[in-house]
Amino acid sequence: MGFRTLDDVDVKSRRVLLRVDLNVPIIDGKVTDTTRIKRVASTIEELSWKGAKVILLAHFGRPKGKVSVEHSLKKIIGTMKRVLGCSVYFARDCIGDEAQGAVAAMKDGDVLLFENTRFYAGEEQNDLEFARALAVNGDIYVNDAFSAAHRAHASTEGLARLLPAYVGRLMQAELEALKKGLGDPVRPVVAIIGGAKVSTKIEVLNNLIGKVDALVIGGGMANTFLAADGLNVGKSLCEHDLADAARAIMAKARSEKCTIILPIDAIVAYHFRANVPHQHYGIDAIPADGMILDVGGQSIECINGAIDGAATVVWNGPLGAFELYPFDQGTVQVAKRAAERTREGRLVSIAGGGDTVAALNCAGLAEDFTYLSTAGGAFLEWMEGKPLPGVQILEK
Ligand code: ADP
Ligand code: MG
Repeated sequence: MGFRTLDDVDVKSRRVLLRVDLNVPIIDGKVTDTTRIKRVASTIEELSWKGAKVILLAHFGRPKGKVSVEHSLKKIIGTMKRVLGCSVYFARDCIGDEAQGAVAAMKDGDVLLFENTRFYAGEEQNDLEFARALAVNGDIYVNDAFSAAHRAHASTEGLARLLPAYVGRLMQAELEALKKGLGDPVRPVVAIIGGAKVSTKIEVLNNLIGKVDALVIGGGMANTFLAADGLNVGKSLCEHDLADAARAIMAKARSEKCTIILPIDAIVAYHFRANVPHQHYGIDAIPADGMILDVGGQSIECINGAIDGAATVVWNGPLGAFELYPFDQGTVQVAKRAAERTREGRLVSIAGGGDTVAALNCAGLAEDFTYLSTAGGAFLEWMEGKPLPGVQILEK
């Protein structure tokens, strides 16, 4: 499937409604992380430089369809101006007279931010009347918010039905990277899935089995698989009620010729805390009162061997309790190998997920991956193989 991009449209003097993700973290009124603003900067700059009237649409937090000072986008205007290095005008509403007046005053190249789209219930309901009210202010719609594309809302899906619709540069990069990951990957493909629980990732596991050549399972969720295989995991995090689900996934893998790689050794502690005493055990000798908090050295060797044999790696979920030193080591050692192979040009590496991004940032390896998705929920739904409504509607 192809997408219409900014290469396919003349935006000069046109009003462009650009959906972006400005859901930045704010503590005590201050934006604490500008990553999301920086990432959409190039699309905004390109449109402005090409002479478009750039009108930014975004949500902020969960105001649940009501106007709320706490959720006003006004408080990020200062940061926006600083990061973008240009004037950013603000309209205290995203529809109606206030919005129309602000748009009428725009000159070519101007950048205007509309107030939170979620101040209207019609946004999340994908209400046609609300989408029409948004659409009157634009000639063209551009979506650059992949992270919101798993939701069919008025500003992420509805607008694409009403105006000529295009993919922004950030979303374009994300879609191209994901295509390299699972859409049309160079084989062999190895997926690495970690994290706390199987229950949050059953659909991810099931989808991957049909698509990848090998599936590495680590983190807390590996314990559920080990226990389902009859091993004793002591006091480790384990969802015993999901033993059948785990066995079904392993059976499906066998029939689809997808190799499952589970830990063969582990780092065990007795408290879920950083810097506590810990020991190394083979996976068939976990002490009854111990907790598996990370994969062991032999498992790391085995996973790194799989990475060496792979052309593509798709990764979600840390392999251990990475927030607690030294139980980050499995994740770090494997990330290092993937980063190294990527730098050497031998591997396409795609990673995503809130904690996965945090772990790779902590390890200082985020830049070395082919693509690190910060899209959170949308990335996971993509891993589940679900169509994303905000993407689907943009397909040619
Ligand atoms: P992501 O946000 O990248 O999708 P998850 O939220 O699924 O990842 O998983 C991250 C969490 O999994 C972390 O909080 C980490 O501490 C936890 N975790 C990983 N391995 C273990 C383990 N062996 N025991 C307990 N928690 C674990
Ligand atoms: Mg998480």
